Amino acid sequence: MLNKIPEPFSVDGIIKTFEANSKDFIKSFAVYFYKYDTKEARLWYVSKNKLVINKKENNKECSLYARGSKFGYIILNTNKNEDEISILINYLSILLYSEKLSFLANRDKLTGLYNRGYIIKYLEEKEISNEIYSIVIIDLDKFKHYNDTYGHNIGDYVLKLVSKVMKEKLKKLKYKSVLARYGGEEFIIVFDISNKNDLFNTMEMIRNSILETDFSTEEYSLKATASLGGAVKEKNIELKTFINNADQALYNAKKTGRNKSVILDF
Ligand code: GH3
Ligand code: MG
Ligand code: MG
Repeated sequence: MLNKIPEPFSVDGIIKTFEANSKDFIKSFAVYFYKYDTKEARLWYVSKNKLVINKKENNKECSLYARGSKFGYIILNTNKNEDEISILINYLSILLYSEKLSFLANRDKLTGLYNRGYIIKYLEEKEISNEIYSIVIIDLDKFKHYNDTYGHNIGDYVLKLVSKVMKEKLKKLKYKSVLARYGGEEFIIVFDISNKNDLFNTMEMIRNSILETDFSTEEYSLKATASLGGAVKEKNIELKTFINNADQALYNAKKTGRNKSVILDF
């Protein structure tokens, strides 16, 4: 139950407080952020009663500014005029900008997945709890070959598509997971799986989802495979050793033929 209460200073908490306190004069709101490399606006948050926003009557669009530049906008469904809500918008701007910065700091630019820094921090925080969980390290096979043969852009395209395929697959599984880009053509997944059997079956599903994907472009007919190393976190095992165990398993998968999943006994 305690987990359900948002931290007072988290944006999640602030949005919820804002939602609760503005109920009388703001019926619904949606926050859009511009992507850092394009002018495209992406919906970042929409309040629960989305239908109100979709109706468009009484909608007001207010720009979100920080450091003198516009980084997004908020659409509010409200009877108040813009002057009346300007303080609120300024306040929200500061909070949302800091949220956008921390979002970017935790993401990998190419794939949009969490980055290595984020996942390490996540695993370190998990150390405090005595939870049993698993990690899987995924490394694309002979990836250098894609760059050397078809060019770096095709390599990038394969990395993006592999990320998307894994993300979609993970959504369909019954386990909770966090996926990150761990390095160049390496990914890592943290699972709430506590036994080797379930972990192995899950690894095989991920491996097959990559194997079955058609990576072909207009010019080239392309396939990709990956090798996976997994480990289940036993109590008392240090994080470094735990990650190393998954790495060893991955190394074993590479050494024994690639396009396979391995979990070792330690
Ligand atoms: P193995 O099956 O043993 O893993 O072989 P590999 O070729 O995948 O391994 P290696 O470590 O030799 O090469 C990894 C390649 O991944 C080298 C590098 O050019 C490529 N790579 C890493 N990051 C990126 C990236 O962001 N974009 C592209 N296009 N290529 C990348
Ligand atoms: Mg590698
Ligand atoms: Mg590789």
